[in-house]
Amino acid sequence: MTLNTASIPNDTLAELEAADRAYVLHPSTNLKAHAHGLSNPQIIAGGQGATLRDAHGKEYLDAFAGLYCVNIGYGRSEVADAISRQAHELAYYHAYAGHSNEPLIALSERLIRMAPPGMSRVYYGLSGSDANETQIKLVWYYNNILGRSTKKKIISRHRAYHGSGLMTGSLTGLPVFHQAFDLPLPQVKHTLTPHYYRRDEDGMSEREFSRHCAAELERMILEEGPDTVAAFIGEPVLGTGGIVPPPEGYWEEIQTVLRRYDILLIADEVITGFGRIGTTFGCEKYGIEPDLMTLAKGLTSAYAPLSAVLVGERVWRVLEEGSDKLGPLGHGWTYSAHPLGTAAALANLDIIERENLVRKSSDTGAYLLGSLREALKDSPIIGEVRGVGMLAAVEFARDPARRLPFDSVHKVGVRVYEACRAQGVLARAMPHGDILGFAPPLVLTRAEADRIVDTTRQAVAAVTEELA
Ligand code: PLP
Repeated sequence: MTLNTASIPNDTLAELEAADRAYVLHPSTNLKAHAHGLSNPQIIAGGQGATLRDAHGKEYLDAFAGLYCVNIGYGRSEVADAISRQAHELAYYHAYAGHSNEPLIALSERLIRMAPPGMSRVYYGLSGSDANETQIKLVWYYNNILGRSTKKKIISRHRAYHGSGLMTGSLTGLPVFHQAFDLPLPQVKHTLTPHYYRRDEDGMSEREFSRHCAAELERMILEEGPDTVAAFIGEPVLGTGGIVPPPEGYWEEIQTVLRRYDILLIADEVITGFGRIGTTFGCEKYGIEPDLMTLAKGLTSAYAPLSAVLVGERVWRVLEEGSDKLGPLGHGWTYSAHPLGTAAALANLDIIERENLVRKSSDTGAYLLGSLREALKDSPIIGEVRGVGMLAAVEFARDPARRLPFDSVHKVGVRVYEACRAQGVLARAMPHGDILGFAPPLVLTRAEADRIVDTTRQAVAAVTEELA
């Protein structure tokens, strides 16, 4: 497949860029630098497979699948056609008061069948953020129905990412999502990041570090009071906080503590769901038995906005009982279960199944990680190369032997990202520390993996030379 490389004429492009600066407020962007032309709008015009084309006609290998979401790759007409058919048939009707439609029913049944055992019902939103917002409301509702009016606090982790709403921005454990937003809300607490490489003490095995994380969680629960702690939320593999697979035994240790204090577990599978880490869900890989699950991104491969909250039997039974006292659930969005989203999800899941993308993610991911490790093994600025499935990260260090980071003024992660970008490979400079992240579409070929690795090796070498 080749991309249509027709680009927009330069004068039109200049006008577009000026209009972007004048009218658009971009997420996660330095607003002033953008508005004043100190950074350029990046106008993306098209995509095919793992390749993107910008408005200048320049091609990029997208080694981050958008924001870890375009699992099936760009330009899949099958999904576009399914959305189009649905738009012609029934573009919209709401799901309030028991209204339903065929794709909604089909997708819900399919998700419950795919999910780990014990999941019972599906609620839909439009983004990972709103789905996690729903999770916390359901948890509070659940405890209110049970008459546990004080059991409301939610424990998240430093460096977690669960969205950027009021509650979800609070759950997120990255300072930039809190500062000057009056967050986090007081009901949210953050416990240790399960990142073995960044442990404070030496001489601890990975397993011991996991026990240490669980002990620290237990200490926090006891300090807060177990009857005030409602739920723990975690990404099976920490994502935006640095792409960190859990240390050995972590989820087992954490779940033991949660069960001891009757605390619900919300598995945020927004990134890890639908094959990203080489299994259908992260829960499956790490033996996580969640009470609630959050899905988005790979659910539709971002062809349409859709997220899902999977409610486990234990919570569902209480919610159902609550109807007698409370009547209809006072929660919902106009676009909950939007038919264009559910139609996109069904077509996307067909592709994931038919093309065996979960298996492919495991195979190509292992190849990518192995090749990255091999290519960077002699570099003097590599602290850790880690990953699982089609998630990988390179963490840079000033002194790898002592695990000492660079001073942030050097912007090492951003510079390596820029050097890759200049060579046509889009990785991601992760927002916390000098970490370069990779999360390519699951359809990535080995030749494309080789190009990512080769480009990264050259970029790292160039930045190392600049730093010397
Ligand atoms: N949860 C996780 C694990 C995520 O990675 C993200 C986004 O990256 C979200 C939630 C929020 O999703 P959204 O950006 O769709 O609101």
